[in-house]
Amino acid sequence: MQRTGQGETVQGEEPTADNLYDYLLAPAARTPDKAAVVEADESGTLTDISYRQLAALAEQYTQTLELLGLEVGERIVVEAPSCAAAVALLLACSKLGLAFVPVSAQMPDNRLMTILTSLDAALYARAHGPGRPELPWAGGTARFALSGLSIDKAPARPTRRRRNVLALDTAYIIFTSGSSGRPKGVVMSHRAIVTFLRAVIADQLVSQCDRIASTSPLQFDFALFGIGLALGSGATLVPVPRTCLDSPRRMVTFLRKARVTQVHGVPSLWRPLLRHDAQLLKQLDQVRSVIFAGESFPLAELRRLQQMLPGTRLVNGYGATESMAASFTEVPDPLPAHQRTLSIGHAHRGAEMILVDSAGRAVTRPGVIAEIYLRSPALFSGYWNDPAATAQVLVPDPLQARHGHTVLRTGDLACLDERGELHFVGRADAQVQIRGHRVELGEVESVLAQHPAIASAAATLVPRGGEHVLMAGIVLKDITAPFDEPAALAHCARHLPAYMTPRRIRPLADLPLTENGKADRARLARLVTTAA
Ligand code: ADP
Repeated sequence: MQRTGQGETVQGEEPTADNLYDYLLAPAARTPDKAAVVEADESGTLTDISYRQLAALAEQYTQTLELLGLEVGERIVVEAPSCAAAVALLLACSKLGLAFVPVSAQMPDNRLMTILTSLDAALYARAHGPGRPELPWAGGTARFALSGLSIDKAPARPTRRRRNVLALDTAYIIFTSGSSGRPKGVVMSHRAIVTFLRAVIADQLVSQCDRIASTSPLQFDFALFGIGLALGSGATLVPVPRTCLDSPRRMVTFLRKARVTQVHGVPSLWRPLLRHDAQLLKQLDQVRSVIFAGESFPLAELRRLQQMLPGTRLVNGYGATESMAASFTEVPDPLPAHQRTLSIGHAHRGAEMILVDSAGRAVTRPGVIAEIYLRSPALFSGYWNDPAATAQVLVPDPLQARHGHTVLRTGDLACLDERGELHFVGRADAQVQIRGHRVELGEVESVLAQHPAIASAAATLVPRGGEHVLMAGIVLKDITAPFDEPAALAHCARHLPAYMTPRRIRPLADLPLTENGKADRARLARLVTTAA
């Protein structure tokens, strides 16, 4: 590396050791003509984008971004479905050391503006196609597609001072639901994500011949996992269009036509198929493995899936965005009839999950419920601009407290079985999963409490027709005034994604509290159901 007179550093001959760009495009040199991504157009026609073409597109995007002169670490907010162009933009950002921040086209304007502003984003780049009307965003804007990246408005930024991208620089930031009422940005470095991908690929989660269907939207790190696993192993990524996910028949037809061999998705992906068209699953005879993650798979449904996909390896992926994932455990075939919970096994290669009790001691006795701590070289760097929240979860290693390194306190409860494998039990706090999305009930409550007529609010999940739906109880500022529920629901829809908007909002005389003054969600669930 050389340093120029103005203090600007330029990259020398040495390749960067841990950078997503180098890692994911290594197959472009070995198997340039192999399909990196298989993409469907609106008419359903499939197109192969080879590793060579993907590398060329990433290079084209890099050259356009390069002209903006952005400093390493600047944030690029990307609104796109999971597609080849988005992958190329991720690669271009990685090469230049720009942090890639995926958001969804369905995200409400207010939430997107909060993210753009809190990140002080350099650029808001949208995939071509119908999108939201203009935002009151004064920063840089761009559009991109397979045909290229065009800058609509260049960001006004200070001159770049450094160019060399280090392994500790940020690869991406994923926004998850934050209990403080604001979305939390999980910052992931190149070193962390490349270390993670190397480990899970070495654990043989995938083979080079796989064609991997990814069903998650780009802003969910499950989509980035699919991209990383496919390209990192030299396999092929097949993003499944959203329109195919709405209908079991369309989904099965697409998976067959695209000759998919591995499917990634949250457990609820399979629910409509299992409920209404289970026989269709028999058509998926080319699928060799299914990786599900993000929440517990109800065992009755999992058993049914196993029966309908005989010989298919079912893998339970457990973990949080803060480490992309922690473990991948094969579901026993057949799943024993007496089994009540699924094993989340052991952490991936090079990492360890331990159980820690409330006094900070490691728990090794089977059956004792305690919190999972993850010891791993592939942890997130911290929450964006929130050292206090970061310090709550990146804590001194309870096994080696004097060494000064940190581990991830997951907030998940589990217990060990007789064979030393972990079983997930639940959350230690108020974070829940709704249709595979992670939701902090506190964030829903904080939006409700911003409504002018509402004094206080509490949200909870209530079982309804085989699934869990979000319901809220509120206390009105003026308890004698009539409550306008549709207006309050519309207020939520303006500020929250659809999956975080309560199904019903019930006015109550008081919010139920536990003995130590915390929201008593179990009682709340009973109250809002009785009021319904
Ligand atoms: P991910 O992107 O991996 O779904 P999120 O950060 O959205 O992660 O949510 C993480 C939380 O989801 C975990 O802390 C845990 O509570 C829950 N979770 C993830 N995977 C599983 C699983 N296989 N079984 C049960 N709960 C899970």
